[in-house]
Amino acid sequence: MITLALLTLLVDDELITIQKGELPIVISAPHGGRRAIPDCPLRIDTSRPQFVTVLDTSSDQLAEETAREVEKALGKKPWLIIARFSRKYVDANRSEQNGTESDAGRAVYRRYHQALEEAVGEVRKQFQHGLLLDFHAQGADSKTVFRGTNNLASVKTTLDHFGDESINGPESFLGKLESQGITIYPPRAQFRDKENKSFNGGFITQTYGATSKRGIDAIQLEFGASFRSKLTLSGTAQKIAIALQSHSARYFVKR
Ligand SMILES: [Zn+2]
Repeated sequence: MITLALLTLLVDDELITIQKGELPIVISAPHGGRRAIPDCPLRIDTSRPQFVTVLDTSSDQLAEETAREVEKALGKKPWLIIARFSRKYVDANRSEQNGTESDAGRAVYRRYHQALEEAVGEVRKQFQHGLLLDFHAQGADSKTVFRGTNNLASVKTTLDHFGDESINGPESFLGKLESQGITIYPPRAQFRDKENKSFNGGFITQTYGATSKRGIDAIQLEFGASFRSKLTLSGTAQKIAIALQSHSARYFVKR
């Protein structure tokens, strides 16, 4: 039987990567992990809403590489929280009720969300607002990145303060991704179109995004396979960092 103290040690070292940040940027990747959680049974209750156990392949690596590129581009670290545990044991992008089925699972789930809460809280304290990017992978369209903002609700702070161009302008985060050849859905020109229902922003975006009183702006990014292959992954990370650099110079102004 594994003790709670040992599990705590394991969580930070082996099961969750946590980097404290210096920028108003938070990067999260809940579905890219492959490790088993000690003494945690596999999730089996398919009656839970949105029960999924598949891996978001390489989304963890893409998040990690992006954090490195952001530090290179901006000279400071973003906050980074990456699940190394497999979604077969815990789904951190669901409510605790729906994403866990055991005590060991709940302990790991809570640590992931504690780290997210701390990151978002610190960003709010130091910068008033910021941007959380929740990294995922999808198999529906390899050449597209699906935007998930609960149809712009989770980026409401920036949108209200700076207007449409902060979301669809050429120097905005999404605009700059598009101008570097990354296809975003909905596209910039129709940015108010409804998002794809399967990818429109899950528990993390809803909980830590601008829809929440204690949140910051949040975007779920669902990357197709063409952006996260061995050959393309580091280029994708560089483009995301360039887009964040452009966005932060214009839309991270203190109020
Ligand atoms: Zn996912």
